[in-house]
Amino acid sequence: MRKKYKAFNPPYRILMGPGPSNVPDSVMESLSKPVVGHLDPVFLSIMEEVQDMLRRVFMTKNHLTIPVSGTGSAGMEAALVNAIEQGDHVLVCISGVFGQRMCDIVERCGGILKKVETEWGTPIDPEQVQTALTEFPAKIVAIVHAETSTGVLQPLQDISNIVHEKDALLLVDAVTSLGGAPLKIDEWGIDICYSGTQKCLSCPPGLAPITFGPLAIEKLNRRSSKVQSWYLDMTMVQKYWGPDRVYHHTAPISMIYALREALRLVVEEGLADRWERHITHHHSLVQGLEQLGLKMLVDASYRTPMLNSVVIPSNVDDAVIRKRLLEEYNTEIGSGLGPLKGKIWRIGLMGHSCTRENVNHILSALKSLLAL
Ligand SMILES: *Cc1c(COP(=O)(O)O)cnc(C)c1O
Repeated sequence: MRKKYKAFNPPYRILMGPGPSNVPDSVMESLSKPVVGHLDPVFLSIMEEVQDMLRRVFMTKNHLTIPVSGTGSAGMEAALVNAIEQGDHVLVCISGVFGQRMCDIVERCGGILKKVETEWGTPIDPEQVQTALTEFPAKIVAIVHAETSTGVLQPLQDISNIVHEKDALLLVDAVTSLGGAPLKIDEWGIDICYSGTQKCLSCPPGLAPITFGPLAIEKLNRRSSKVQSWYLDMTMVQKYWGPDRVYHHTAPISMIYALREALRLVVEEGLADRWERHITHHHSLVQGLEQLGLKMLVDASYRTPMLNSVVIPSNVDDAVIRKRLLEEYNTEIGSGLGPLKGKIWRIGLMGHSCTRENVNHILSALKSLLAL
């Protein structure tokens, strides 16, 4: 007997967790457009537009600026495998889950790893990087801009200056910050940066925008060994995205359509207005949470607007509240990870999910649920 499967109709959720965020209708609609061949002239022109808009959103002139096929973690892996050769010294700054994930990849690439750590919920102090670099001749310093596991926005300018004084490259995880908070690749001197589509760009998960600056390209071209990953080898992938269009792997056509539309919306709104919108709603969310008697994990000067970590009161059951939010309010928020499990909620205000209505909605939902 052949088993029958019903057609699937997922519910519409209000996505206020650490990602994915809600996707605008026009982005969802772009996914249903006809698939064309990946070397079709129509598709080639879309590839150009996507690269051009990514450069605008990353605020860079970097030629090698493309979407990697895969989620944000594929972006992380692409950044690290292309930057690191066996035996390279790599300094990784850890202030949460994503710094830890970088360490795992560095070791898999044969890099010699040194860690700089800070308590979760606080940023890395530039002096820590300075001290570490005087004893450890790192070629690459890797750091997370918006640490989604804690809600910290890491200042980068001072660290960038220190890294470049030591002739190292700065590699930045901007999965959560791109499109939601200021991120200036060229002005800040970031050599390699990757992101993801499902956080503040509000596109479904599946692509990882990445950009390599001139110093990173130079290091890539000087490699004496092949990049460890065939799929993520930028020396090959860039030939497909460049004028030669040498086949490497088939671009995920429909996802590129979706990213094009999501980027079009970002450019249409304007980066400065978009950053402003995130700050405005973040402030009213924090104010409302504090009126409910809740406390924020992160000090006000280091909060990242798109990910709000709230301390769970000791008499409240984390899982019960999140379950009721999902079942009764159709709303997703995030739980804590690692040492913050059971201690914080992570309320996302990312991209299309960052609205006044959503702020009011989550505040009134929490007010009712916590009153019981
Ligand atoms: C979400 C996230 C990632 C991983 O992205 P995936 O799309 O889940 O693979 C990496 N870094 C940060 C800071 C993130 O928030």
